[in-house]
Amino acid sequence: MKYKVASKEKKNKFISLYYKIEGGKIKRVLPFCDRCGPGFFMADHGNRYTCGHCGFTKYKSARNLGKASNEKDYSSD
Ligand SMILES: [Zn+2]
Repeated sequence: MKYKVASKEKKNKFISLYYKIEGGKIKRVLPFCDRCGPGFFMADHGNRYTCGHCGFTKYKSARNLGKASNEKDYSSD
């Protein structure tokens, strides 16, 4: 039996853009777009992810952003 291995390297390289194998398990590196749903990967832009399909931006520290919202109190005094 013969196996085709010609495109193996190329294929792995492509997959590594979106998936990472850790401890024998495949981990998804990039998140899916909240708007477009599963199948639409978001691009990594450092501190945020952006969907190239709809333009949706998702901040990596979204949890912290919501927590650290500066609520200025203008009603004081
Ligand atoms: Zn999208």
